Amino acid sequence: MENDTWGRVQQDLLKAVGKNNYTNWIEPLEFDSVKDGVARFHVPTNFIGNWVSRNFADQIQNHLIRAGVSVADVRFEVPSRAMRPVPHTAMADTGPGERAPTVSAAAAKATKGASSDLPGAPLDKRFTFDSFVVGKPNELAHAAARRVAEGGSVSFNPLFLYGGVGLGKTHLMHAIAWQLQAERADLRVVYLSAEQFMYRFVQALRENGTMQFKELFRSVDVLMVDDVQFIAGKDSTQEEFFHTFNALVDQNKQIIISADRAPGEIKKLEERIASRLQSGLVVDLHPTDYELRLGILQHKVEQYRESYPGLKIQDGVLEFLAHRISTNVRVLEGALTKLFAFGSLVGREITMDLTQDCLADVLRASDRKVTVEEIQRRVSEHYNMRMSDMIGPKRHRTIARPRQMAMYLSKQLTSRSLPEIGRRFGGRDHTTVMHAVKRIEELKAVDNQIAEDLELLRRMLEA
Ligand code: ADP
Ligand code: MG
Repeated sequence: MENDTWGRVQQDLLKAVGKNNYTNWIEPLEFDSVKDGVARFHVPTNFIGNWVSRNFADQIQNHLIRAGVSVADVRFEVPSRAMRPVPHTAMADTGPGERAPTVSAAAAKATKGASSDLPGAPLDKRFTFDSFVVGKPNELAHAAARRVAEGGSVSFNPLFLYGGVGLGKTHLMHAIAWQLQAERADLRVVYLSAEQFMYRFVQALRENGTMQFKELFRSVDVLMVDDVQFIAGKDSTQEEFFHTFNALVDQNKQIIISADRAPGEIKKLEERIASRLQSGLVVDLHPTDYELRLGILQHKVEQYRESYPGLKIQDGVLEFLAHRISTNVRVLEGALTKLFAFGSLVGREITMDLTQDCLADVLRASDRKVTVEEIQRRVSEHYNMRMSDMIGPKRHRTIARPRQMAMYLSKQLTSRSLPEIGRRFGGRDHTTVMHAVKRIEELKAVDNQIAEDLELLRRMLEA
């Protein structure tokens, strides 16, 4: 890559991440090289490297690809001349974003003496089953992933995982790959994003290497393609993906796919592909609930504690975060990392005050969320009822049921308490809301129509 290409990519990144982020994290990067699909950058400190790797690596990679640079991975390294015996600080060694640069499907394969050109992307060493916190919203996806990771007879093919951003799809896929690599070294496991798949394919087309491309992909035992919505609308890639897919399924090889939505809902995805993708097991990761968020935070704190034995967090801080940050796990983790970095810099206990100061912007951003009023409006529209009936006294089923659904969604999607929600529904009591939530939960399990309606409404509201 030419230096001015990086210059252009920097300009794109400036637009994408905003001035502040740009100055703090992108500007300090010094482009080093692109080799074998890996773009390397020098960073002044490990902390910056970890942070960038965690928060901006995907964007940097995407912009590089868009600028025509062939990259399957980006790495951020402190140049060796600056490699001093770094004091063993947590951020430097076990901080976020640390990748396992030597362990990729390709590398693992190479050590076994086979062809070293398996087209996999590197796996993030933090993304294992051990570090995956299971809760109600993700238990099915987790169980399915566990099953596939056992590497036994192919039980559902493909396994299709879908869900909103930051809910753990990539984490689960990497966890499957790690476990398979550890326990079933005989299997050729390949993980890559749909974007990388496309990139590989386009490159093969350009270099007349489509035969090798086909052979390569059709020789794997387990193929995982992440974010498959990306290839929708890219006709020739879609076609090739479909053929690869069919060839592998015919050979009874396991395929694992992720996407940000259900197969049938991916726009511009050919119908026959969508229906093929649905032919295995389709499971979704639901938006996190409070318990899961709290669980994840507690788990993270335990991990950090090993590196920061002296760290103190005031009671209530984690609960506060789990309550207030309900967007996605990535944001949640980012908030915690920032908080810890800050706490360790100032060397103080992490109190509520410090939290609110340090995370003011994050907290503000996650305030811009669905409101109870929006939920009421959407649900009324959906069931063709008057908004006034939402908050009015009528108790007929055709009105009471949608009202209960709106209450349920308010509990799920906003951080309002039961009494607050009750007040917004014409001054109802919190026990009424509690009852509604319970009732809808029961119905959801037995009534497909209600489950579907809820899902649809949730997606509309979160869009
Ligand atoms: P997705 O691919 O669905 O957008 P990721 O798998 O990249 O989301 O997850 C985003 C971040 O949140 C990752 O750092 C991941 O480790 C973390 N994460 C998501 N779900 C969980 C979970 N259940 N337990 C622990 N960490 C999680
Ligand atoms: Mg992902």
